[in-house]
Amino acid sequence: MKRISIIGSTGSIGITTLGVIDKFPGEFSVVGLSAHSNADLLIAQALKYHPKIVAVGDKNKYAAVRSALPKSIDVTAGRDGIEAVATFEETDLLVSAIVGFAGLYPTLAAVKKGINIALANKESLVVAGELIIRTAREKNVQIYPLDSEHNAIFQCLNGQKNTWVKRLHLTASGGPFLHFENDTFAAVTVQQALAHPNWNMGKKISIDSATLMNKGLEVIEAQWLFGIELRNIEVIIHPESIIHSMVEFVDGSYLAQMNIPDMSIPIQYILTYPERRNGFTQHAIDFTQLGKLRFLRPDMIKFPCLKLAYYAAEQGKTMPAVLNAANECAVELFLNGKISFVDIPKIIEHVMSRHTVQPSLDYSILEDVDSWARQCVKQKV
Ligand code: NDP
Ligand code: MG
Repeated sequence: MKRISIIGSTGSIGITTLGVIDKFPGEFSVVGLSAHSNADLLIAQALKYHPKIVAVGDKNKYAAVRSALPKSIDVTAGRDGIEAVATFEETDLLVSAIVGFAGLYPTLAAVKKGINIALANKESLVVAGELIIRTAREKNVQIYPLDSEHNAIFQCLNGQKNTWVKRLHLTASGGPFLHFENDTFAAVTVQQALAHPNWNMGKKISIDSATLMNKGLEVIEAQWLFGIELRNIEVIIHPESIIHSMVEFVDGSYLAQMNIPDMSIPIQYILTYPERRNGFTQHAIDFTQLGKLRFLRPDMIKFPCLKLAYYAAEQGKTMPAVLNAANECAVELFLNGKISFVDIPKIIEHVMSRHTVQPSLDYSILEDVDSWARQCVKQKV
């Protein structure tokens, strides 16, 4: 039995991961689960899967979770509790599915402990790619990508040599505003921004997909995961979300990975890796129904967040951490109705313009930079 822990088990990726595990009775055991504040769902998951350890980030929810679960389950809370789940020694694979910077410290702690990671929390690589990849090498830890684009590239690279790779082509759906005119952006609502045409995801990544910041974060994520230079990573809009990314090889061949847009496919690939197992029956693609697949160049004027992410990636060091923190705050402000959609890139640009980059090899520096950038957003707003 492969022993799985999930941090962020009550989110979109966490729930989908448990759905994949349900398909293979007797093959996986869930040993650790964590949530932030959704105690009801965390309790229901723990009663169903009987993990050995559970953590609730919000300490106010500890008593409720503790009293609902049998004594055989270790219940912890707060930051230390989440770290305890992430580093639980009986884990073969940790699914890192917390959203945002909050996913970094437990993911890093698990890597330091030598636990292999199935990574959804892209923000941790954006903020601390150098630190995580270096630590993973030292500890001989595998980082398996769950993010669909990186998972596609991982599949395409199977059996290939690094020196054969010329470029990576990351596909992007373009989000709900692909065909909106620039002058309508100021008036778009939270509901419109959350309505992704192809994927059903958590709120933060849905807004990131609408601004194209998600693709910018994924460019940085790809840099670290595949050790490839920024100039060799292309972003291409592909509204159908059937091709999840492509690898271009030195001989002129391209490999692309395709599936219908459903996160259970990349998640299952990693859970059963290196095996392939039967999927859900509804996953077949009817190519005749699809008709055609389209590809467009991204419009960086319409979607300045993508340009900001490229700029942060070029600057490197602590700049991606600033980009990430400013973006997390701006997205939250937008979701709470405090700023408009067009303010998101303006705020991020303002915070980045005030930052002087420093080396980013130390977690405490990254934490300080993250706090500084959040403070800077507050002052600006
Ligand atoms: P959700 O918002 O749906 O879920 C987030 C999870 O993290 C929840 O379990 C939540 O707990 C927990 N959480 C939130 N804040 C904290 C915190 N401060 N401390 C501890 N736990 C916290 O997000 P998604 O599942 O959509 O995304 C998770 C990650 O995966 C993101 O990094 C995203 O970019 C990435 N990803 C997601 C994809 C998707 O299809 N959803 C696709 C590719 C990547 P609670 O429920 O209690 O609030
Ligand atoms: Mg993705």
